[in-house]
Amino acid sequence: MAWLKSIKSKIMVFAIAATLIPSLGLGMLSFRQNEAQIGDNVTRELRALTSYASREIELWIDKRVHEVRVSSTSSAIIDGLSAVARPRASSAGKNPQALAHYLRSVQERLGAILEMTVVNAAGQVVASSAQTPTRVTLPDEWPLDSLTEGLVILPPRWDEQYATATLAIAVPVLSYDNLIMGALVAVLDLSTLQPHLKSATKSPSGEVLLLDPDGRILVSSQTDGNKLMQLDLSVLQRLQAQPGESVVFKGMTHGEVIGMANVSAELPVTIVAERDRAEVYATWVELRNMFLALVGALLVGVAAVAFQMGRSIVNPLQGLIGAADRIAGGDLEVRLAATRNDELGHLTLVFNQMVDKLRHSRAEIMATNQAMQQQNEVLEMLSVTDSLTGLYNRSKLDAILRDQLARFKRTQREFTLLMMDIDHFKTLNDSYGHITGDEVLAAVGRILVQSIRSIDYAARYGGDEFIIILVETSTKAALKTAERIRSQVENMRYSTNGSTITVTVSIGIVQCQPDDTTPTAVFARADNALYQAKHDGRNRAHPAY
Ligand code: GH3
Ligand code: MG
Repeated sequence: MAWLKSIKSKIMVFAIAATLIPSLGLGMLSFRQNEAQIGDNVTRELRALTSYASREIELWIDKRVHEVRVSSTSSAIIDGLSAVARPRASSAGKNPQALAHYLRSVQERLGAILEMTVVNAAGQVVASSAQTPTRVTLPDEWPLDSLTEGLVILPPRWDEQYATATLAIAVPVLSYDNLIMGALVAVLDLSTLQPHLKSATKSPSGEVLLLDPDGRILVSSQTDGNKLMQLDLSVLQRLQAQPGESVVFKGMTHGEVIGMANVSAELPVTIVAERDRAEVYATWVELRNMFLALVGALLVGVAAVAFQMGRSIVNPLQGLIGAADRIAGGDLEVRLAATRNDELGHLTLVFNQMVDKLRHSRAEIMATNQAMQQQNEVLEMLSVTDSLTGLYNRSKLDAILRDQLARFKRTQREFTLLMMDIDHFKTLNDSYGHITGDEVLAAVGRILVQSIRSIDYAARYGGDEFIIILVETSTKAALKTAERIRSQVENMRYSTNGSTITVTVSIGIVQCQPDDTTPTAVFARADNALYQAKHDGRNRAHPAY
């Protein structure tokens, strides 16, 4: 579920769920209701269809029975049958043919009857309209059933001879004194029932089938009964198990059908009314598909809007995150385009202002730092410099000397120290004043700086005393530098208040020794050498060998 962490996906999932759940939920509910309603309507229609068909069959049978009964009372039949029963009483030889002829004429007149046969009380054929009469076996108890007045309706069947479904009915033939002499059997053409069933299916639409106990179609309202189609027995049983209820099954000619069975009161047949399921639900399916397409389109639309919405939130956020990352990395030159007029636009604006302030503060801090650094540098310089002469001060001189001693110990490269003192400086102070004395000290300092190399050091030791450290220099070479300095100071002419002042210096020269461990030891020897120079008459350099 890592993908659900992003805001974009969350918006997307929410939008899709918010669209799908209510629309599909409500849609499904209403379609389920419609489906159930359609199912109820179809059940009602099929019920109407089966009862209509059952009534039509009843009427059709009654009409045929009536026709046969009327025929059975005709004198031709009664006489014909009597003649057969008592052959000696009359000219019996011609009677069967005459009767057959009569029967043919009646049969031809009555459209739905294929064959009329007269049988005697023993069930033997007396005369028939057909060449080979259909064999009809009357039940044993016949004609005792007073309820049916001796009417027998035999199970319908497929008649190979007539290539149609037939139904045989038998009515008793009574003599003039009301004795049963035999029966008039009529073979009915069940296909003539088709127009009646057809009219039954006009409104409501559908198909009505008459099935024999084996499920074979005897008559169909739609197709002509020249094909011997059979309904699957299990389906038939299902239908018969729930008469008056609709059942969905695989039809014989169509695909799936919704059917209903009803057992005829008159005939040992099952009446099945059915409707093509696809046709019944066609509008419903079309509506459902249209609804699903609409939901699909809506979903695509909502997803597109949600995607755009997610992008419009996430993209500026990513811009802000990227900018914040750059700021965290020290880049304050970040500037985001604030083009939007919403909360994110405001946030971007505030972000830019924040960055501006940060940039400004950083510039201020940098300027302050720089100033402080400069001040520190000045302070550092002042801390190591003698303010009057600009040379190193005493404490720096100590540090330099310690470094040089350590270096000498490490590298054995000697250095030489010159200690010099202005001669009779007290007198100069006394004669020209302390300020002039200071100026002379500074002038001597300048001569010292100019007389040494960049690697050497010049410092004011205190009062009118100066120290020079000549790096990697022996006493011999130092003596030359000392002489040069001495001579330059001697030749210096310092003019003040109309008089020209000259000074001289005495210089003590010492080279570092392996047993020199502290600056004091070196200073002490240098001081001795300087004392010697003073003692020897001043304005000279005295090396301590
Ligand atoms: P010598 O030849 O023996 O060195 O004689 P000197 O007069 O120079 O004696 P010394 O070196 O002992 O005296 C140094 C004098 O320098 C003492 C003091 O008045 C003066 N002095 C010390 N520091 C300063 C200073 O900063 N400015 C001025 N103008 N004079 C100073
Ligand atoms: Mg002096």
